[in-house]
Amino acid sequence: MTQHLMNTYGRQPVTFVKGEGVWLWDDQGKKYLDALAGVAVNGLGHAHPKLTKAISVQAARLIHVSNIYNIAEQARLADRLCEISGMDRVFFCNSGCEANEAAIKLAQLYGHGKGVENPAIIVMDKSFHGRTMATLSATGNRKVQAGFEPLVPGFVRVPFDDLEAVRHVAEHTPNVVAVLVEPVQGEGGINIPHDGAGYLQGLREICDKNGWLLMLDEVQSGIARTGTWFAFQHTGIKPDVMTLAKGLGSGVPIGAYVARGAAAEVFGPGNHGSTFGGNPLACSAALATLDAIESEGLCAHAEQLGNWIRQAFLDQFKGVAGVVTVRNAGLMIGIELDRPCGELVKQALAAGLLINVTADTVIRLLPPLVMKQDEAQQLVDTLVPLVKNFLSQ
Ligand SMILES: *Cc1c(COP(=O)(O)O)cnc(C)c1O
Repeated sequence: MTQHLMNTYGRQPVTFVKGEGVWLWDDQGKKYLDALAGVAVNGLGHAHPKLTKAISVQAARLIHVSNIYNIAEQARLADRLCEISGMDRVFFCNSGCEANEAAIKLAQLYGHGKGVENPAIIVMDKSFHGRTMATLSATGNRKVQAGFEPLVPGFVRVPFDDLEAVRHVAEHTPNVVAVLVEPVQGEGGINIPHDGAGYLQGLREICDKNGWLLMLDEVQSGIARTGTWFAFQHTGIKPDVMTLAKGLGSGVPIGAYVARGAAAEVFGPGNHGSTFGGNPLACSAALATLDAIESEGLCAHAEQLGNWIRQAFLDQFKGVAGVVTVRNAGLMIGIELDRPCGELVKQALAAGLLINVTADTVIRLLPPLVMKQDEAQQLVDTLVPLVKNFLSQ
């Protein structure tokens, strides 16, 4: 590889040249089953005909104009996102960290509007919100922060899945104005609240009682990944702010934050902006993505297939020492081992399977939403012997 790329990624030694559905081919002609989907981005798999067509048609018509003008595709996408989420207003940017950065700005402005001098936001241990200065400061992982001090102030950290800790902060920290939380922690290890819907419901209650904004980072859990359009829809509550990116544009960069009620009225002209955000090409990709998810029934499919995959792994790993748990929220799947297992990524690659390991000990699977049952069976059949062999060493 060239020396002219910044040395920021520990890359796997493979170069993909084409894809179709859940399959990828490298420059040697070897075929791989993609169980990572570009980290929850390629929900429609690779080269989905509806997406390819929408992008090609839009590129031939208009790619970019500037938010100085009306953008019809952006208005259509905002309407669609509000329709499926029950939220009120959308702002478009280009990535997850940008969406979270804007949510943080929104919370600060909301706080100042209430007369709070140094507004603070509650964030969680093991969270991941991005790599910009404010979002890495909000992130609950020292590895992401180390060396980038001074961090952005204004965050109060509590353990994930611990309502008592949040209530304690409410009693002792008067300048809190918002909570920022992933409904299911992705990078942190596919961490699912132990009490299911109760956690977000509890947070909603605490936020209402204290006049705080509930801000959900659905960058990874959103866009059908957990079996509903958005993970919060399993819980019966609504957030004040939700951030989106990864799966929204199927790989064409687009991020969004979506707000409701008072939170939707916090920003006014001049408060925030983006050159590329919500351009016609990115919005067309997102509209095509949402259309395909709906017409192909991929929300329900993600839930069914995710549960099937979890059960298949549980059956195969019964009595296998070293497998701690298998957990899933739709097609966010985590297999937790009792030891660091990063080397499984390379072994799976050699076996023609793309997986990820996060939080050192958790095999993370984020397959395309379009994965079929027989392909999921292949995923299980390929991964199980690798894990068993790894644990027996
Ligand atoms: C990936 C991710 C981000 C960051 O998104 P980028 O597009 O890489 O900036 C933020 N939050 C969550 C939950 C994520 O999974």
